[in-house]
Amino acid sequence: MGSSALNRTRLIFEYDRTLLHRMHSPRVYAVIEVNQLMPSVITNLRRRAKALHRNLRGASMAARALASTDHPLLAHIIPIRRCNLACTYCNEFDDFSNPVPTEEMFRRIDKLGALGTSVVTISGGEPLLYPELDDVIRRIRLNGMIAGLITNGYLLVAERIQRLNRAGLEWLQISIDNVNPDDVSKKSLKVLDRKLELLAEHADFHVNINSVVGSGIRYPQDALTIGKRAVALGFSSTIGIIHDGSGQLQPLGEEERRIYHEMKSMEKRSFTRINAFQDNIAQAKPNDWRCRAGARYLYICEDGLVHYCSQQRGYPGIPLADYTGDHIRREFLTEKGCAPHCTVSCVHQVSIFDAWRAPQHPMEAAPTATPASELVQIE
Ligand code: SF4
Ligand code: SF4
Repeated sequence: MGSSALNRTRLIFEYDRTLLHRMHSPRVYAVIEVNQLMPSVITNLRRRAKALHRNLRGASMAARALASTDHPLLAHIIPIRRCNLACTYCNEFDDFSNPVPTEEMFRRIDKLGALGTSVVTISGGEPLLYPELDDVIRRIRLNGMIAGLITNGYLLVAERIQRLNRAGLEWLQISIDNVNPDDVSKKSLKVLDRKLELLAEHADFHVNINSVVGSGIRYPQDALTIGKRAVALGFSSTIGIIHDGSGQLQPLGEEERRIYHEMKSMEKRSFTRINAFQDNIAQAKPNDWRCRAGARYLYICEDGLVHYCSQQRGYPGIPLADYTGDHIRREFLTEKGCAPHCTVSCVHQVSIFDAWRAPQHPMEAAPTATPASELVQIE
């Protein structure tokens, strides 16, 4: 890393060390001296130009979403189910599967483009394990869609970030679960902090750091430490409520709720909007909303099947290649029985566009599901 790109102020970071000491005792936490990273003027200008372009396209997509309900707003696509980590709460990975052939990924992306999808997020497993990831990103952009990536960040190095820039990646999210690795998750600030610094210096794309509270997260205070670090590096930060390994929501305890609300107030200052959906979950209250999964949101598994979401795999279970406007219109109007206690905030966010529109009807009969491996269904 060139020293000219750094402002080595040796700021003792706003990690609240007193808080950490109090909360984590008797754990020992190594004080991190932070290099406040300053991207070059050129990088800053490039970032601003790209952010402006992305925001203009986003505004035009939002206008299109309000004008028509016949196209997906967001699709998650899985190029590889394999992951280099094994978080114990996760039901979305394995340690053996092969990558989807690149030509097949291109066909799926072109199909999403033909359906009029606005944003495609590449997820996993760990998508950085996918050999032709940059080509997949290029294909998304070629189809006029916004390209995003969710990664655990372990494989990021400066050169990889620059390749993502060149491929046209527009936003990236890393979810960090704790400050120090434990037996639940190795997605830790201690391990990933250097990766965040590299992103702060090199990434042209928007970076969001998501932290979590909930099932299995031992030190909920870590979410605040992670959020503050993200903001200090110039990223946005969000907080999510985690489900357990079977996809079920466990109500938050008092301390977790306090941390959650403190994070949410920080979000409001610096980046995202109020999320009443998760506020209700934090209070163990059901949400009254219309889930538009299968219509406005699609989850495309490694087998190329369309599912409602990562936690409702199996429905509708139709190959993306055969998915049509009729399926989209049907699912738009299909009530999802799992909605009141759903934790999948991205689906809620896209469904907000249509909150005022057509009421939904109970599913008449479960659609015939093409067999997919390891289906996850929540009653
Ligand atoms: S949560 Fe992410 S990093 Fe952890 S096992 Fe699942 S896919 Fe891998
Ligand atoms: S309500 Fe939630 S869990 Fe159910 S299909 Fe919609 S997004 Fe998935």
